[in-house]
Amino acid sequence: MEAMEPASDVVDPNNAGNPLEEDKNRHDGEERCRVIIRLKPLEKGEKEGRLRVEGEKIFVPGVNGTPSRRRKTDDDDGSAFQYDQVFPTNSTQEDVFLSVLQNSISYVLEGFNATVLAYGQTGAGKTYNMFGPPGESLDDQDLRGLVPRALDEIFDRIDKDKSGSSFEVKLSMVEIYLEELIDLLKPNCNQKLRLRESVYQGVWVEGLSHFSVPTSRAALELVLGGMDNRTVGATNMNDASSRSHCIVSLRVERAMPDGVVQCGVLHFADLAGMERVDRTGAQGQTLEEAKRINLSLSALGNCICALSDPHRTHVPFRDAKLTFLLKNSLGGNAKTTLLVACSSRLKDADETVTALRFGARARAVRNVVKVNQKLCAQELQRLLDKLQQEHRALQQYCLALEQQIEDTISKDASSTPAASAPSGAGNASAGVQ
Ligand code: ADP
Ligand code: MG
Repeated sequence: MEAMEPASDVVDPNNAGNPLEEDKNRHDGEERCRVIIRLKPLEKGEKEGRLRVEGEKIFVPGVNGTPSRRRKTDDDDGSAFQYDQVFPTNSTQEDVFLSVLQNSISYVLEGFNATVLAYGQTGAGKTYNMFGPPGESLDDQDLRGLVPRALDEIFDRIDKDKSGSSFEVKLSMVEIYLEELIDLLKPNCNQKLRLRESVYQGVWVEGLSHFSVPTSRAALELVLGGMDNRTVGATNMNDASSRSHCIVSLRVERAMPDGVVQCGVLHFADLAGMERVDRTGAQGQTLEEAKRINLSLSALGNCICALSDPHRTHVPFRDAKLTFLLKNSLGGNAKTTLLVACSSRLKDADETVTALRFGARARAVRNVVKVNQKLCAQELQRLLDKLQQEHRALQQYCLALEQQIEDTISKDASSTPAASAPSGAGNASAGVQ
């Protein structure tokens, strides 16, 4: 399998400069970030917290929910935190996949970008939702998470495609550990990875390897290898706590029979959890990691705050590698879903409310999505011909208007000669003539 550089010459991820205004896909436009909550079931002997789920709302006694929807309830349950969907503790991995990704995968195959962010307290189930039970092979059909299911679904749809298109899927996997970027698919490579940004390409990781994957199985093997390379460590809150943010990206390029090339990128961001060091017992290196994780998650919170406030013009994306890397997914060109993994335990009540608040605020973030596509020479020629035709028609219209103005002026001049003559006696004499 060969490592490949991003196909930046083929597709413009921001769609900047795309000349095909008239062919804008019907899904183009502004979209709100979807926020989905998944509550983790209790383990034996754990005491349940005082959350109450009602449809897409979560009530926490004595705590104010989504600010814009504040309302009192009779039983002093505070007010509701409102989401797009709430998965209670008995929901399955399949339920979450259908809600989070079923549509996004169609969009990605049509050339849109989509992002899923897993956010939440350490041990609340982010990695479980994204990949499956930590440390497992991801082969268990029931327990496997979003990434293996998405891989199967993408390749299944490619196999069933009848449009005559050819597809290429490329995979990359990057970790942000102690504010350094690490290529998880080339772990021993000492090359320092840097974030770069351009108007045309948006933000990308320079030097990151992209592997072309022919099948779902090949892609999953790579992902499993990448996960083994992730930095994890045991804390009091989680035996295999992720000490880094990890982003898996699938780039799906589709070359259609008419020569149009579309490219959709699907990102999965499994974020490290916000940690209260007094509870995780972090010391030494683990404490240093916790500080960096918390700083980058604070930066993410600040970006979400700025993006959800219509009066703020500056969004501090560059405050952390995480936010800079996710720039395109936060207020940019991507259909973004935030999956908040929440603990339902009583002793996690404070962290759960923090995560619920974060999720409720993120619902105000709006992205502007566009299909990423490059046109073939014939399509560009057709567009040019059409624009030239329109240009000629407008020129003719201008000439006709100019002619009309000239005609009107000369007609006015000949029918009212007195209008330009001097006033008084002269006027009277002109009238007699
Ligand atoms: P995080 O990534 O948020 O730190 P993990 O995904 O590692 O948390 O989950 C911590 C533990 O909880 C793991 O043993 C995982 O299998 C378990 N777990 C998480 N969510 C669920 C769930 N919805 N159902 C069953 N077990 C879960
Ligand atoms: Mg994790």
